[in-house]
Parts: sequence; C-alpha cells; structure tokens
Amino acid sequence: MSSRGRVAVVGGSLGGLTAALLLRDIGFDVTVYERSVHAMEQRGAGLGFLPDASRYFTERCGVDIDAISTSTPVIRYLDRDGSVSHERDFRYHYSSWFTLYGILRDRFGTERYLTGQEATGFDQDDDSVRVRFSDGSTVEADLLVCADGVQSVLRRQLLPDSVRSYSGYVAWRGMVPESDLDAEVVARLGDAITYAFEANSHILVYPIPSPTGSVTPGERLINTVWYRNYREGGDLDDLMTDAQGHRHDPTLPPGAARPEHVAEMRAHAIARLPAVVAEAVVRCEDPFVQAVYDLGVERMAFGRACLIGDAAFVMRPHAAAGTAKAAANAWALADALERHASIPDALAAWEPEQLRIGRELVARTQRLGRASQVDGTWTAPTDDTLFRLRDEGP
Ligand SMILES: Cc1cc2nc3c(=O)[nH]c(=O)nc-3n(C[C@H](O)[C@H](O)[C@H](O)COP(=O)(O)OP(=O)(O)OC[C@H]3O[C@@H](n4cnc5c(N)ncnc54)[C@H](O)[C@@H]3O)c2cc1C
Repeated sequence: MSSRGRVAVVGGSLGGLTAALLLRDIGFDVTVYERSVHAMEQRGAGLGFLPDASRYFTERCGVDIDAISTSTPVIRYLDRDGSVSHERDFRYHYSSWFTLYGILRDRFGTERYLTGQEATGFDQDDDSVRVRFSDGSTVEADLLVCADGVQSVLRRQLLPDSVRSYSGYVAWRGMVPESDLDAEVVARLGDAITYAFEANSHILVYPIPSPTGSVTPGERLINTVWYRNYREGGDLDDLMTDAQGHRHDPTLPPGAARPEHVAEMRAHAIARLPAVVAEAVVRCEDPFVQAVYDLGVERMAFGRACLIGDAAFVMRPHAAAGTAKAAANAWALADALERHASIPDALAAWEPEQLRIGRELVARTQRLGRASQVDGTWTAPTDDTLFRLRDEGP
C-alpha cells in the first residue's frame, strides 16, 4: 500500500502508541518520537481498563481481554471496622500500564519507535509540519500528533494559557503481590474493587496483572490508590521532594518518597483504614505518589497538528478513563482521516466531539473529587461514581 502521508507522533506512551498503530493501520507512514531513553522507566501502576482502552487489543491484536486484564464482579464499600456498608454487582476490568505498553510496543516494532527524542516545538505551513528536537534535529511530516502527556511542551507552545491546576490531593499508590499477603486479606480484597472512605480521603483497592502479565489469582498484584490531601506549596513540595532535594512532578517514583512521609502514611493507614485495606497499604515496599491535576483546553486541532490524551485534557482519576480517553481520541482521529482527504479538514471534523468528551470528564471527576476529598458526600456507589468514559449511563 502506498503511504497516505507521514505522521510524527510525539510521545510513545499508551495514547501515542495507540494513535500510531491506528494511523499505520490505515496506510500512513508513522514514526513515534519518545523522550525517554530507555524502553521506559517503571510506570507499572494499575489501571481501570475501560472498553475504549481495550478496543485496540481485542479488535486489532486478537487478544482475549481476560488474558491481559484482571476483573472483579462487585463494587464493595467497607466501613472502618471492616464491615461491608454497600455492595453493587458491576464488573470492571483492570490492567497495568506495563502490560498494555508491552503489547502495543511489540506490535508497533522498534524500527519507527525512536527513543531519546525530546520534541521542543514545531511550526507548520499549508503543506507540512516541522518538529524540532532538543538535539537540534528536525523532522517534516504531513500530520503531527502531540501525545506528550500532562506536561506537553507542544501544548504549551499552542496554548500557553492552558495550564494544569492542582486538585489539592495526591494519590499514594502501591502494589503488593497477593503471595505476600495473608490468605484472608487476599480473599477479602481479591474478588471486588474495594473502597473505604474517611474524612477528606478515600482509597480504592483492586487486583491487577503481575509484572510478568499473569492474571491468575494468587500470582496477581493488589493495587492500592489512596487519595490524600496536601496543601499546595510547602506541604506538597515537601512530600514531592526526595532525600537528595530533587522536587518531582507529577510523579514521585517508587523509592523516592522520604522515610518520614512513608512512615506517616503507613501509620495513618493503620489508624484510620479498615484493617484489610491497611494491610495491603503497609505491605507495599515501594509506594509512590502521583499529584492529581485538572487540565482542559479550548482547542485540540491546529491545522496539521492535534493534541490527544493527557496532552489535551487531564482529569482526576475517579472515572479511571484517562487511557480510554486517549484511545478514543485516536480511534476517532483515524476515522476522521478515513473520511476526509485533507488532513486539516479531518482534524477540524474530529475536534468537537473530543472536546465534549474531555470537558464532561473533567467536570464529572471534579465533582467526584469534591464529594470525596472535601464535602464527604460520596458515601455509596451511584451511577455517577462508576468508572466510565462518557456520561451516558452505566
Ligand atoms: C493516580 C492516577 C490514577 C490513574 N488511573 C487510571 C485508570 O485507572 N485508568 C486509566 O485509564 N487511566 C488512569 N490514569 C490516567 C492515565 O495514566 C493517563 O490518562 C494516560 O496514561 C494518558 O496517556 P498519554 O499517552 O496521553 O500520556 P502519558 O502516559 O503521560 O505519556 C506521555 C508520553 O510522552 C512522552 N513525552 C513527554 N514530553 C515529551 C517530549 N517533549 N518529546 C517526546 N516525548 C515526550 C513521555 O515520556 C510519555 O511517554 C491515572 C492517572 C493518575 C495520575
């Protein structure tokens, strides 16, 4: 098949790789430019795995969803004493960044997946886009897909006034092998997504694939995501600064949290969380922290360039929809490019629905964040609290 044009995808994580594969599938000549030098540092955290996120794997890779994800049939809320306050039948799937990245990266191959390539900006005219890199090189393409995440330099060039805002809380995250936990704890946490709420805070616990991708009970990891409030400024800065004085943002990676913060977090878990949940928290050897941000944009299409995934909208994780949104952006982009001969026309047609999805998600997850971290009004599972990408019902 002759090429339909050259595509430069900046950012080779889940959003960028999904877009790269979909555009290559419809005949574009696609190259991914990824800043990280190594095959990707550890980013193995668990993900709620929504249908839009699993679509490429099931439709194009022929993968059985149950082979790459864990699942649970029940949403369960626990009280402080460990008793069940609410239960609702609802099946969720979960996977991990590493499992999904490995499959997409293998499928795309390494020849056109270039690492150590840090984009610094771009310019365009009616006929092409030129992307600039930190080593002084440039590449020319017919379409630029900016999938460079929450700190996107390409977004900052396009929309300097669109800046992320800190939500007031972070997620303390951890993973512990089921085999390291007591059988009773695994029995209580392994068959449901478990929520526990306390004042101005809540935690979620669910099973995810092992680092080798095993989804077999007993070999999985138990993943914890605990939302805790830290004031912007000194409180947050202190948490996110490692023992060498380096301030991390937005992720304080495994091993970098200072011992006094880890000790405080574990003591709080034991004092305030249901015992089974606290056990999963304290048994995690290398907890890490992700600061939670909101970001919205007024535009996603700019002539021959577009923003997708977290480069465009970042929402609080309560809908577990970040990966699904990035994938939905990519599917719709491929669809628009199939329907329009001109790239700028395709992007202009693609943009309105993507903006709508992003705005809705930011608004819904802000509402959920306020209800759980500030007002204390999120106490039971409702349709609004379900993981999902779009607002139309469960
Ligand atoms: C606490 C927390 C929990 C979450 N839970 C879930 C969940 O359960 N389910 C879910 O679907 N989502 C979840 N998310 C969101 C999800 O992680 C993101 O939405 C998703 O990974 C976005 O993917 P992306 O490809 O757009 O961006 P990213 O994964 O951020 O990738 C951006 C890529 O661009 C590269 N890059 C950056 N700058 C440059 C540059 N200048 N040049 C070249 N490359 C560059 C980076 O190295 C990176 O590889 C969660 C997020 C948080 C913080």
